[in-house]
Amino acid sequence: MQNFDFYNPTRICFGEGQIAKLADLVPQDAKVLILLGGSSARRNGTLEEVKQALGERPQFEFDGIEPNPTYETLMKAVAFIKENDVDFLLAVGGGSVIDGTKFVAAAAHYDGEPWEILQTFGAKVMSAMPFGSVLTLPATGSEMNSGSVVTRKSLKAKLPFMSPHVFPQFSVLDPVKTYTLPKRQIANGVVDAFVHTTEQYLTYPVGAMVQDRYAESLLKTLIEVGPKALATPEDYNVRANLMWTATCALNGVIGAGVPHDWATHMIGHELTALHDIDHARTLAIVLPSLLRHTKAEKKAKLLQYAERVWDITEGDDDARIDAAIEKTQAFFESLEIGTHLSDYELDESHLDALVDQLETHGMVALGEHQKIDLDASRAILKGAL
Ligand code: NAP
Ligand code: FE
Repeated sequence: MQNFDFYNPTRICFGEGQIAKLADLVPQDAKVLILLGGSSARRNGTLEEVKQALGERPQFEFDGIEPNPTYETLMKAVAFIKENDVDFLLAVGGGSVIDGTKFVAAAAHYDGEPWEILQTFGAKVMSAMPFGSVLTLPATGSEMNSGSVVTRKSLKAKLPFMSPHVFPQFSVLDPVKTYTLPKRQIANGVVDAFVHTTEQYLTYPVGAMVQDRYAESLLKTLIEVGPKALATPEDYNVRANLMWTATCALNGVIGAGVPHDWATHMIGHELTALHDIDHARTLAIVLPSLLRHTKAEKKAKLLQYAERVWDITEGDDDARIDAAIEKTQAFFESLEIGTHLSDYELDESHLDALVDQLETHGMVALGEHQKIDLDASRAILKGAL
């Protein structure tokens, strides 16, 4: 096991009716800005419940944070905060709204051009506004981590940043608030959480027993509850398990003391930036091909994955690894998520531009041992055609 420094200060209030707790979670004298996505929280009553809990506190609303939140929109929220002396932010939505709020929280305190926050992957963030979240979409883990991904439309750039200053102070997770999610978003959430887990689990060398078994339990839970969450949208226990699994997949616990890959995410970000493919769908395209490309290095862990997650015990090493990768791909497909570039009308002629984007963004040595150079990324994309 590697050395690690585990820090996670986010308080989680989980379960039906927990939104009422905002009355105590948000400081009594706060001037609050509620940040929202398109219209789902307005339509399904979540916003109303939030406003009731906030009571008499002065409060404003900032609408329109898009899926894959844009720098252009978020900078408008920063201007609004400065004009109106807002001192507390509350994100109500999915990963995009929470990620957007993290950027706004950091940018509002940033001395200089806030795009530098993304260009330096967060290294220049010295402080941020306090904020909390009400999660409405189980997927990203953003509700309990210090990462954020922001897109600058004018540059076709989708970049992540991390900073210990942008952990939410608290996140409210009410599974009932996920009942209105379209099937597409539930399927996306299952795949995003699955790949967050594999990015920290399917790495080498092996040897972190607790983290491995915790990751395997998250993967097995997703395999079990994913199809049920699609089939029976109002099954509270299914949604509760999905929600907590997605949070645990990226709150730092399974990632402590183990090597991290993240190549699937970084290559996937370019697919979203250039071709507007949903985040999770980009991961479903890249992961199977990446595992085939790296199966020699990841062999020991892939064999463990085959046996413990997919119960594959027959055949030689190669056959068991191949079967595990096929099962992974079939699981994504069973959720109606295409796993080939051709499913999104992309072909070999699109590869050059994707590889150029990776180079522009410095993504030239990816993977847990920085072995995925631009040629390897090209081969992985080619393998996903
Ligand atoms: P999202 O982009 O936040 O939301 C997708 C869609 O779901 C939106 O159209 C939204 O509608 C709708 N929606 C949300 N809650 C709903 C509800 N309860 N009922 C009905 N519709 C609802 O999706 P996401 O997958 O959570 O976030 C994706 C973003 O997170 C990407 O930019 C990705 O790169 C990033 N990400 C971040 C991390 C991290 O650690 N920070 C990790 C992985 C991915 P409205 O807009 O109308 O609300
Ligand atoms: Fe993700």
